Amino acid sequence: MAKLIEGATGRWEVVIGMEVHAQVSSNAKLFSGASATYGAEPNSQVSFVDAAMPGMLPVINEECIRQAVRTGLALGAEINLYSVFDRKNYFYADLPQGYQISQFKHPIVGHGRVTIEVEGESREVGITRLHLEQDAGKSLHDQHPSLTYVDLNRSGVALMEIVSEPDMRSSEEAGAYLKKLRTILRYIGSCDGNMEEGSMRADVNVSVRRPGEPLGTRCEIKNVNSVRFLQQAIEYEARRQIDIIEDGGKIDQETRLFDAAKGETRSMRSKEEAHDYRYFPDPDLLPLKLAQAWVDEVAKTLPELPDAKRDRFVADLGLTPYNASVLVAEKESAAYFEAVLAELTAVSGKPAREVATQVANWVAGDLFGALNKAGKSIENSPVSAHNFAQLQKLMVDGQISGRIAKEVFEHMLATGDEPAKIVAEKGLVQVSDSAAIAAIIDEVLAENADKVAEYRSGKDKLFGFFVGQVMKKTQGKANPQLVNEALKAKLAG
Ligand code: ADP
Ligand code: MG
Repeated sequence: MAKLIEGATGRWEVVIGMEVHAQVSSNAKLFSGASATYGAEPNSQVSFVDAAMPGMLPVINEECIRQAVRTGLALGAEINLYSVFDRKNYFYADLPQGYQISQFKHPIVGHGRVTIEVEGESREVGITRLHLEQDAGKSLHDQHPSLTYVDLNRSGVALMEIVSEPDMRSSEEAGAYLKKLRTILRYIGSCDGNMEEGSMRADVNVSVRRPGEPLGTRCEIKNVNSVRFLQQAIEYEARRQIDIIEDGGKIDQETRLFDAAKGETRSMRSKEEAHDYRYFPDPDLLPLKLAQAWVDEVAKTLPELPDAKRDRFVADLGLTPYNASVLVAEKESAAYFEAVLAELTAVSGKPAREVATQVANWVAGDLFGALNKAGKSIENSPVSAHNFAQLQKLMVDGQISGRIAKEVFEHMLATGDEPAKIVAEKGLVQVSDSAAIAAIIDEVLAENADKVAEYRSGKDKLFGFFVGQVMKKTQGKANPQLVNEALKAKLAG
């Protein structure tokens, strides 16, 4: 269901389409051998091709093609065996060629889709196309009041531009789409998804209309580099457009910028049209022709994708859809969960399905909660997957109770120690000695003769009270199952 926005004269629907620029994870640039790594000294990674020295010729980097094709396949898209590189002509100081090489009429990837989930409901967002293009250099305006510096390290770096259909209907859906796209790219390793470093940037197109009416005129907000800014920009922009239309004005199609400090969008330039760029096929590059057999080989390099993994976690392991979604949201968390489960099933001899829910609850709940609180990611978790599996095993084997496990886990977070060591040092081993437990039960029943009488005359609810007393006397170390059985027997007798 689309979320409608209240205006002064009725309700409005926001319509959103996105163009995401994702930097291809490759060592070298799209048409040169210069390094594409982030953070180098300005102008230290610039070949003659990237600086547009006269007479230099572009040579295509096969790895970038491969990654674009893998991405297309991961988006369930058509792979175009024939594609063409064009020149998009414009002048700017950080574009020494005077044109950007990009794919216009014949992109390498056609229609595909991304499934998003918002408030438990899933929806499909159509992908219009994915094409390859070069990045431009970077103009630095802030170093000196009257000078602009140019850094060409990015010049020629390979980008995938992923264009969506105008299928999103709220800022939440747009945020979910950007996150999901990032997850997919990171799963397959075609882009590192690092938005702070600019590896992923979104141009977001926003329009508003009365529900059921044709699409309104859109504005495009350029270069949004976080999910939070994306959502803020959309909300501000939708409201701005609604106010203009309700005041009797009309929307000018234009390109706008999001000012994160002020939380608003402002006009940058009127919208340029394709013909302004005089696109034409780059005469230095032949059309790109791929063999279907090569595409089929590339397809074999795709890992299990997040949606498939989530469905498998639910169907085969019996996880809740919620836990499964949380676990697959980052490829590293899914890998952690799977590593723990694999080790636990190996050392405990239990089938995966029997222990998966316990592990999922612990990873998605206790571990992620603790990491969140500490501002850490799973890659630098103080608790290794091996130690985590060992902790689960102590529980599965009945050596410690769930309550004690939480205590051990706190120590593991603080020290990174193995659980067995913590349990031994702190004397936390579960009491499974029936005679010892029976003795404690006798004590508890003797101290609470009145309650025993009440229980025996039908007040069943008191059972939990007796369990609690036994646990208290053993500092939580009594084996709960044995306590339950022994108590039932004694109370009955
Ligand atoms: P351009 O290349 O000029 O930016 P496109 O037609 O390729 O234009 O569309 C760019 C993006 O704008 C796409 O993601 C598309 O979904 C989105 N879009 C198109 N029309 C609208 C609209 N009326 N409202 C919101 N987004 C739109
Ligand atoms: Mg555009």
